[in-house]
Amino acid sequence: KQVSKRYALSGGGLFGKARSLRAVTDIDLVIRPGRSVGLVGESGCGKSTLAKIAAGFVPPSSGSVMVKGQPQRDSKGHIMPGRRKVQMVFQDPLAALDPRLTIGAQIEEALVLASGSKERLAERRDDLLRNVGLNPEFATRFPHELSGGQRQRVVISRALAAEPELLVCDEPLAALDVSVQAQILALLDELRRSMGLTLLFISHQLSTVRYLCDEVVVMYAGRIIEQGKTSGIYETPRHPYSTMLLATALDPRTRRKREGAIVGEAPNPIALPSGCPFHPRCSKADPALCMNERPPLRALDGGRLAACHFA
Ligand code: SF4
Ligand code: MG
Repeated sequence: KQVSKRYALSGGGLFGKARSLRAVTDIDLVIRPGRSVGLVGESGCGKSTLAKIAAGFVPPSSGSVMVKGQPQRDSKGHIMPGRRKVQMVFQDPLAALDPRLTIGAQIEEALVLASGSKERLAERRDDLLRNVGLNPEFATRFPHELSGGQRQRVVISRALAAEPELLVCDEPLAALDVSVQAQILALLDELRRSMGLTLLFISHQLSTVRYLCDEVVVMYAGRIIEQGKTSGIYETPRHPYSTMLLATALDPRTRRKREGAIVGEAPNPIALPSGCPFHPRCSKADPALCMNERPPLRALDGGRLAACHFA
């Protein structure tokens, strides 16, 4: 709900004014149970910040994260007990695991933390390993004895141990070999179908988002600029930035210097353009309007939202 995150910058600006970096601004996003939402946009657009806020790693500067209708944090900003129901899977599974503990011990730890019970612990641990396609024999191994893909399976199983209401995955495939990427993607899809897992999935690979996600959220300069059903966004993007982003993704051979391909650079979050933040790069911009007025995120037909004066 209205989530923003600003970072104060040290040193002050040119005229000694305090400056701040607006990482994300006024994000309103509802993720319904069992849905899988993909978050896309260029690096630096605020995807990872939003992911960390959703998962409770970073407190928002304003606004709040609600889990099942309840605020995730109390009035002092502390995560409320029993609300650690959002789990996160990062890019690098090795960094996410404790090198000194066996796989089994790490999953058991998560199980006990979440349920407060040690009953049938080994059995529950083995079930989790099987759920992510690992033989329960892996329980006795250490992270360094596993491949990258196996480690990411362990990270996912540990996240599932907490019975999350939402699993946030920030570029979970980026550190893996291409062949392994497909396997982990298939695993997430399978878990989504079999367990009704709710996902917020961040990826710069638009094809994986298309495969896995029911809905897509496009971010630009820290804001949501388009949102809607996956098929709709991919077939008929309504925001010129989405069109540009998809044009490069759909034809990987052509990158820059092609009409409809990525032009210009992502804006500097310390000095965002006036009006529509996309106007310096937009071929459809109306100078008078777009440089001066920021278009709000408006509802279009078919549940689509877009922030463009001409969408
Ligand atoms: Fe382009 Fe104007 Fe739409 Fe922004 S509001 S995306 S500058 S046409
Ligand atoms: Mg990132």
